[in-house]
Amino acid sequence: AKRGGRSQVRLFDRSMDESARFRHSIEAGLRQAIAKRELEVVYQPIIAREAAEVVGFEALLRWNSAEHGEIPPSVFIPIAEESNLIHDLGEWVTAEALAECRRWPGHFVSINVSARQFRRQDFVDALAARVAAASISPDRVQIEITETVIFDDDARAAETLRRLRHAGFRVALDDFGTGYSSLFNIRNYALDCLKIDKSFIDGLGREVEAAAIVNSVTHLARSLGMGVVAEGVETETQNQALRLAGCSHLQGFYYGHPADADATAALALAGEAP
Ligand code: C2E
Ligand code: CA
Ligand code: CA
Ligand code: CA
Repeated sequence: AKRGGRSQVRLFDRSMDESARFRHSIEAGLRQAIAKRELEVVYQPIIAREAAEVVGFEALLRWNSAEHGEIPPSVFIPIAEESNLIHDLGEWVTAEALAECRRWPGHFVSINVSARQFRRQDFVDALAARVAAASISPDRVQIEITETVIFDDDARAAETLRRLRHAGFRVALDDFGTGYSSLFNIRNYALDCLKIDKSFIDGLGREVEAAAIVNSVTHLARSLGMGVVAEGVETETQNQALRLAGCSHLQGFYYGHPADADATAALALAGEAP
């Protein structure tokens, strides 16, 4: 048992070492990715339930690395968040998304913002300056934050949210239901809408609880004056259930996969749900 234990320790050390090396090489690659033009922003349609039309797009980052191939954001974003890289990436995505948004009159763009970006003292002012420079009305720009942002530092986060709203931006709480927040403790934050996490949508039609959760979240959010976006809608069954529940917006492969900038501009001009 003792020998087994020791060799396990060695294996563990080696894999730690390998994962540290992997992180290091991702970080080094990411540092050059912007200059090497390896990054791209793709856009996924967001549909308004009542009008059944595309009203906006969520900007999602893609990295096609010459060294590693396609690396999903779920891998490189957390690494970027642990260094200052997330600031450069965030600024790059924002600049791209705002430039593209100008090609979609009447539609909004929704941009994911990490906790570290959000906590920067100049976050709101820098965003407002960029949006003004691009001559875009701030109400066409939605910022997506996660629950971590609020609960890490609630007094300052609440203040930043107020300033964002005051500047005219919309704010969405992403991945709702996966963290610690409940509708009770988010009611005092300035939020325009909740995005119900895909894990709850996945359960629709399979688990009774999923439908109950989606229904009650939607109902309470509406009574608090917030919109509800269902994300990760993949099937007709889910779509029907979500429409019945009264979600204000729908997003997912059922309506459209993330697409490149040109395809997105064409879709926005066509104006109809795919
Ligand atoms: P998220 O913000 O929750 O984005 C939704 C994710 O679900 C996206 O994955 C999207 O492609 C995927 N998705 C949308 N509809 C469906 C569906 O019907 N089925 C399935 N299976 N998946 C669907 P993606 O693009 O891989 O992004 C993963 C996460 O990486 C995002 O989750 C977000 O947290 C982060 N991320 C992506 N781009 C950025 C960015 O520019 N900045 C920051 N800070 N984070 C980003
Ligand atoms: Ca998001
Ligand atoms: Ca999400
Ligand atoms: Ca997510």
